Formats: sequence, structure tokens, C-alpha cells
Amino acid sequence: MTRLAEPADRICDVLVAGAGLAGLAAAIAFARAGFDVVACGADERLARGRTVAMLARSIAYLDSLGLWPAIEPQAAPMRALRMIDDTGGLFPPRPVEFASSEIGLETFGWNVENDLMADSLAARAAAAPGVERTGRPVESYDFSGERALARLADGRTVAAALVIGADGRASPARRAAGLSVRTHRYPQSALTALLAHRLPHRDVSTEFHTRQGPFTLVPLPPAGEAADRSSLVWLMSDDEARRRETLDDAALAREIERQARSLLGAMRIEGRRGIFPMARQVVPTLTAPRLALIGDAAHAFPPIGAQGLNLGLRDVEAIVEAAVEARAAGGDIGGSAALAAYERARRADIFTRTAAVDGLNRALLAEFAPLDLARGAGLAALAAVGPLRRFVMREGVAPRFARPLPGPARRPDNA
Ligand SMILES: Cc1cc2nc3c(=O)[nH]c(=O)nc-3n(C[C@H](O)[C@H](O)[C@H](O)COP(=O)(O)OP(=O)(O)OC[C@H]3O[C@@H](n4cnc5c(N)ncnc54)[C@H](O)[C@@H]3O)c2cc1C
Repeated sequence: MTRLAEPADRICDVLVAGAGLAGLAAAIAFARAGFDVVACGADERLARGRTVAMLARSIAYLDSLGLWPAIEPQAAPMRALRMIDDTGGLFPPRPVEFASSEIGLETFGWNVENDLMADSLAARAAAAPGVERTGRPVESYDFSGERALARLADGRTVAAALVIGADGRASPARRAAGLSVRTHRYPQSALTALLAHRLPHRDVSTEFHTRQGPFTLVPLPPAGEAADRSSLVWLMSDDEARRRETLDDAALAREIERQARSLLGAMRIEGRRGIFPMARQVVPTLTAPRLALIGDAAHAFPPIGAQGLNLGLRDVEAIVEAAVEARAAGGDIGGSAALAAYERARRADIFTRTAAVDGLNRALLAEFAPLDLARGAGLAALAAVGPLRRFVMREGVAPRFARPLPGPARRPDNA
């Protein structure tokens, strides 16, 4: 890569590449911590029926950044999680239901449409002192100098002490820095849709475990005429995804209702639906000189157990913390000590989440009696053993590997 000539058009502390949910949150968080930020990348709204279920810890973090009050009115709480085995296996376990009240929480988390959350974060980033937003993507990087140099698509150059690669699964920043990625494509795709339905969800998120992957209905708040709404993430074989893609909305809604065993009554599909191929990506090293990867650029896996963005927000917390500590010690925010601290803070959390999601997904896909037995026994134990239930629930919403909550965890309901 050609070395870009100094002086750059703009010098800043932090350049955030990517204006997805992780990148926008990072830009706002760095600016709040007093850094001068350039945030670049187009405002895309390509989520097609997608929502993000954010767990209690993520809500507390967004709240600490002052972002939650604007998102909350568009989100629905998840006060209970229900799991129903639909694999037709030899050892079918009974349905399991967890209530957030069992671990002293009003709710496990909140579910919101990606595009509405992106609108909210983009509006905050545009107005935030300390953030310069540009819709131009980064075209090339040079990480070899004392500052990272990025050339934007409009030809402008930006020099930064630290680049945040929040540029998604294909991450051009990761490629430019020569960081490796291992990708495994599962034989599955996720079908996503927003649904209006006849019966209320009662704030319960329901997951059916099928042989082709989980089928999950997550509560959404009322909108317009539709009082009862949910989002759907349905993992299925690529062949089934191709077939269902050709169905009209009414025919697909009937298939969704059938798979949901009419739990929420008749369904109507709202707006556009999406099909997303499923893959796992492992990025062995999250940092390179003057670069830290966050969000889907740093890890990716199927949407099981609402982990992706929750993990991404914990990346944001950790990299901002590493930079704040480096600055307080008179060090370099993009230097090797700060980057090593970030890498140490994130490795175990990312590794365990990726392995857990992969294990669960494979256990469903494998038509193998001992695995079915283990999965069935696991669900039965979760149904019966109080301390295990509570451990698993707490790990879900506030994992051990995450740092302590940023300030007192407000109960979002009491806000
Ligand atoms: C079906 C489905 C359901 C999901 N459900 C949940 C859930 O319930 N809970 C949860 O926590 N997670 C969930 N996830 C995961 C979550 O949606 C992602 O982890 C999250 O949206 C990733 O955000 P991101 O900002 O890291 O990446 P992205 O959204 O991919 O954003 C990256 C951005 O970078 C931009 N970019 C690329 N190259 C450049 C460049 N050179 N310069 C500037 N910009 C660039 C891209 O255009 C893009 O806008 C789900 C995922 C899927 C597929």
C-alpha cells in the first residue's frame, strides 16, 4: 500500500471506520470521554426485518452514555424467555421458561428494530460535540507511521492516534492491517421479519429448537394500528430459505404461524423481510499497530441467544476504557500497551460466546442421539435446578468476563 503523505487534511485522536450500531456507539463513547473523533461511513439501513435484543448490561451501558432514553420508547422488554424443543428427537425435554424476576431483574433486556436504533444513534452522533461525521467510507489505510493515515473516498486524508475498525464482517481495516480471519459457513440462513399478530406476547420471548436451527419470536412494542408485534429470526437450511424467499407474505405468514404452533395467533408480515447466510468468524488477533477491531469486524456467529451486538457494545466499553487509562498514564492511546490491554480484556468473552453459540447450533443440527440426550438433559436440568438456572440467566445478561457495570445498573423500567 502506498504511504500517504503528511500533513493530513485532518488530525484527530480516534478515527471510527463504520457507522453501524457498534461504530456509532463507539464514536459517541469516545467523544464523551473527551477524545476528538472522526466517524466515517455511510448511514445504511439494510436490516430488512432485523431487530437486536439487548441484554440488561448493554442497556445499562447505553444509559451511562445518555443514549437509552431515546431508544427505550421504541423497544419492548423481555421479561421471560421460553424454550420449546421441536426437534422430534428421541428424548424430548419439556418446555423451559425463565423469568427475569428469578434473578431480581425487571427484564432480561429489550428488543428494538436495528434501523430505529441506528436512526437514534446517528442523530446523537451528528449532534455530539467532539464527533465529526462523514458519510464517506475509508478507501485506504497506512498503519506504518507515527499516526495511522486514512484516505477517505472523497480524497481527504485523516491522521489518527487510534483507528477503530467497526467496519463489519468483511472489515477492510482488518484486511489492510494484515490481520487474519477464519470463516466457517454453516449450511443455514436466517429469515427475518417483523410481525403483527392476533394474540399478545406478554413480554415473553419464545425460542423453538428445530432440526434446522432455532425459530425465535421476540416481543416488539405496538406501532400504528398493530398492538401486538414481534420480530422473527428463523434459522433454516439454505434450500428452505430459498423456497420461503419465493413465497408471498400471506403464504409465509401461514408457515410462520404453523411453526409457532399458533402461540400468537394469525400473523401478518410488516415491511421487508430478510435472508442472511449464517457464518462464524474467528479473528485470532483483534489489534494491530494503531488499530482495534470491534463489533462484527472482531467476531461473528449465528444469532442464537442474542449475543452479537451485546458483545460489540462490550468491545466499545473495553477499548474506550483502555484509551482513557492510557491517556491518564500519559501514554499513547493507539500504542502497544493500550492495544494489549484491550486484547486482554476481550479475548475470553469473545472466545466463550463464539464457542457456546457454535456448540448450541451444532447440537441442534446433528441428528445424533447422544447429543440429543445431552441437550435434553441440559434443558431438563435448567428446568429443575434453581442455582443452575440462576447462574445461566446471570451469565446471559451480565457475563463474568465483562467488566463491572458502568455505575449503578438502573432498572430500565423505573427510569
Ligand atoms: C438475523 C440476525 C439477528 C441478530 N439479532 C441480534 C440480537 O438479537 N442481539 C444482538 O446483540 N445481536 C444480534 N445480531 C448481531 C448484530 O446485529 C450485529 O452484531 C451488529 O449489528 C453488528 O454491528 P456492527 O456495527 O459491528 O457491524 P455492521 O452493522 O456490519 O456495520 C459495519 C458498517 O461498516 C461499514 N463499512 C464497511 N467498510 C467501510 C469502510 N471502508 N469505511 C467506512 N465504513 C465501512 C459498512 O457499510 C457498515 O455500515 C443479529 C444478527 C443477525 C444477522
